[in-house]
Amino acid sequence: MTEAEATPKTGKRVLLAKPRGYCAGVDRAVQTVEEALKLYGAPIYVRKQIVHNRHVVQTLEAQGAIFVEENEEVPEGATVIFSAHGVAPEVYEQAKARSLKAIDATCPLVTKVHQEAKRFAAEDYDILLIGHEGHEEVIGTAGEAPAHIQLVDGPDDADKITVRDPSKVVWLSQTTLSVDETLETVARLKTRLPLLQSPPSDDICYATSNRQHVVKEIAADCDVVIVVGSRNSSNSVRLVEVALDAGARAGHLVDFAHEIDDAWLTGAATVGLTSGASVPDELVQDVLAYLAERGFTDVDEVVTANERLTFSLPQELKRDMKAAARG
Ligand code: SF4
Repeated sequence: MTEAEATPKTGKRVLLAKPRGYCAGVDRAVQTVEEALKLYGAPIYVRKQIVHNRHVVQTLEAQGAIFVEENEEVPEGATVIFSAHGVAPEVYEQAKARSLKAIDATCPLVTKVHQEAKRFAAEDYDILLIGHEGHEEVIGTAGEAPAHIQLVDGPDDADKITVRDPSKVVWLSQTTLSVDETLETVARLKTRLPLLQSPPSDDICYATSNRQHVVKEIAADCDVVIVVGSRNSSNSVRLVEVALDAGARAGHLVDFAHEIDDAWLTGAATVGLTSGASVPDELVQDVLAYLAERGFTDVDEVVTANERLTFSLPQELKRDMKAAARG
């Protein structure tokens, strides 16, 4: 008899989504802080949360990272790391003015959107940036060309847009949006702006769309979908919405296993489980252990893509690491 056959079936199962958790940009950003702490020693200042996850931020704080909101909180001449979400050009200028040693952990896929914004602005396009008002990534991207960029926060915002020349307008987007809602927003924009151009390649990143895709696959079979992630994590919040839209009977976002309310599991036979792109897998394993204690011992991993993308560390950090290695 195999081990699986020997395991008593409880009738309660977990559908574990894959891909889930860390993406290449988050992995690089977290490693950037860890390597900077090793190389330069504590404290290392980080402007904004390096990634939107409470556990990650608390862990790095314990290692000597100090999270600040703005450059002016960083002592002159100290090292500051810019978060994965990207910053507006003025933030680099402020850092220079304070003689800060700046290390840029912006995800290369966010940088790609910044480059698109700069290019279309240089060609004098009106740029419609689809994204969530106040999100750090949107503030950073809009800062590349404030005179050319208008924010479109969801389908209803599409009706408020006015442009100078309807034949010279392009849409770009935040990387962590709902794929389906963004398509809806674009369709609404196109009813008023039929010549609206699309970005040269998808702005919603591979990690966001892959995590949404697998959740859609499992949602209809789930009595409840639990997403591990923080409330300020755009891609994590979207996963709950996608699960509900795709037929999950309920969906909840938790930072930690202990936040699960047992009432969510009452009468449930199938629990879906996934995590946002800024979530270390140990937090998902904690939820699996929690569920197993409540009889959800059958775990089926549903895999819809294998992700192999990695990004190298920021150049400025790699240069200093090589110099240190040479002694
Ligand atoms: S979610 Fe996408 S854009 Fe954001 S850090 Fe990860 S890979 Fe980069």
